[in-house]
Amino acid sequence: MNTYPLYINGEFTPAESSATLDVVDPSTADVIARVPDAGAADVARAVRTARAAFDAGPWKDATAQDRGRVLFKLADIVRRRAGALAELETRNTGKPIVESEFDIGDVATCFEYYGGLATKIHGDVIPIPDNAMSLALREPIGVAGQIIPWNYPLLMASWKLAPAICAGCTTVLKPAEQTPLTVLELASSFADAGLPPGVVNIVTGAGETAGAAIVEHTDVDKIAFTGSAEVGKTIMRAAAGTLKKISLELGGKSPNIFFADADFEAAVEGALFGVFFNQGEVCSAGSRILVQRPIYKKFLDAMVEKTRTITVGLPMDRDTKMGALVSREQFDRVRQYQEIGKLEARLAVGGGRASGAVLDRGFFVEPTIFYDVDNADRIAREEIFGPVACVIPFDTEEDALRIANDTYYGLAAAVWTRDIFRAMRVVKTLRAGIVWVNHMQPTYVEAPWGGYKQSGIGRELGRWGVEEYLNVKQVYINLSEQPIGWY
Ligand code: NAP
Ligand code: MG
Repeated sequence: MNTYPLYINGEFTPAESSATLDVVDPSTADVIARVPDAGAADVARAVRTARAAFDAGPWKDATAQDRGRVLFKLADIVRRRAGALAELETRNTGKPIVESEFDIGDVATCFEYYGGLATKIHGDVIPIPDNAMSLALREPIGVAGQIIPWNYPLLMASWKLAPAICAGCTTVLKPAEQTPLTVLELASSFADAGLPPGVVNIVTGAGETAGAAIVEHTDVDKIAFTGSAEVGKTIMRAAAGTLKKISLELGGKSPNIFFADADFEAAVEGALFGVFFNQGEVCSAGSRILVQRPIYKKFLDAMVEKTRTITVGLPMDRDTKMGALVSREQFDRVRQYQEIGKLEARLAVGGGRASGAVLDRGFFVEPTIFYDVDNADRIAREEIFGPVACVIPFDTEEDALRIANDTYYGLAAAVWTRDIFRAMRVVKTLRAGIVWVNHMQPTYVEAPWGGYKQSGIGRELGRWGVEEYLNVKQVYINLSEQPIGWY
């Protein structure tokens, strides 16, 4: 079993706090590693080094090309270490190895994309009605505090680290307490990639202590957070104390809408993939499946039939299509919603723990579908973050849109139809930050990611993602050598 220290100022270093966190393999419930449960003093040390690296260190003088090259090297290193990182990700999260391999590929692509973008950050020259020149410079915001969830540990880390490095910021990143391992492993390659000490610091620990200390620290200029809406609200309140810039990527209860004219086979598969991949532990999960009445019964039957073929299995098994939930806490939470669902709606398939010889030690649940769900039910309103689907019937396009938008969330949505007029009307009316047509879930580093309403503030990925790490400085340059003659 590995014991990891913190990563601060370019080296692995013991925490001042003597408390530790157990890291668990959710497919067996075995403890596989220990990490420090860092406290405010550890966070302060990390922030001090991030501050120094930003204000004085070699990072301040690094050119955009230098920063780009660091990111390209990181991408190469991730690709070289991909096999081991994917295996570690699967051991720590319980997700199928095949999915971890995709995730690690996406991590490399994310570093690569922002490596290319580093040399394309530039300001503006603004025409003004005077003998003067007006410039808008874009500068790194400073020290970023970055707090991430457990569902895509290294991928979420890369979504945070890559744009920060691209912009010229320094960072203190706190992984989720359940899943700190892959980012700590990657930290052992930061120096090889050419990252100067202090630019990226990794502090493991609990949200209420280590996380809160990052959010409250006066020398942190910006907070980038991904997690639940509830914690997002806490962070927004705490950041008010020092008026930090914040970006929040929060949860969802995303509608996946199926009109009767949709291609049937593709639609059924899209409904299941939309809600069941990564065990449903996906912020953009299509957890509300809205189906038009003429195909409702047939669609539900087809979904159930296909769901029975989903292999819930050991995460390292290449045939596994659904692994373990990340923790006992998450398992208990999802099991509870399965029981709530049985009282609120009708159960079509699943509804319990997934059992069987190899599964009994781990946190496995059955892929579960409820139907005739009322959009006012708790299972249709609250984010479950597990493989639990709510199927809701509708009659008209107007009904579908009313139900789809009747949620506090607004992260994602999808619509399935062959009617281009209808598709475009629905796209325009959905209040969500990401909308798919005839698909659900593909995500590209080139395109913006983020939510409407209570699903968040700001956007990650693409050129939008780097904006969150930049400040704008207005510069006025007088070209007239005459006194203004006011007095
Ligand atoms: P969470 O409980 O909100 O935790 C997220 C992170 O915040 C963790 O690192 C957590 O620390 C930390 N935290 C908790 N309380 C804090 C506080 N008071 N101050 C500072 N940090 C604090 O979320 P989760 O359970 O890890 O992840 C699931 C949620 O993330 C879901 O709601 C999901 O929708 C959302 N999510 C959104 C996106 C997106 O892009 N929109 C992507 C992935 C996930 P601990 O280590 O102690 O938990
Ligand atoms: Mg948590």
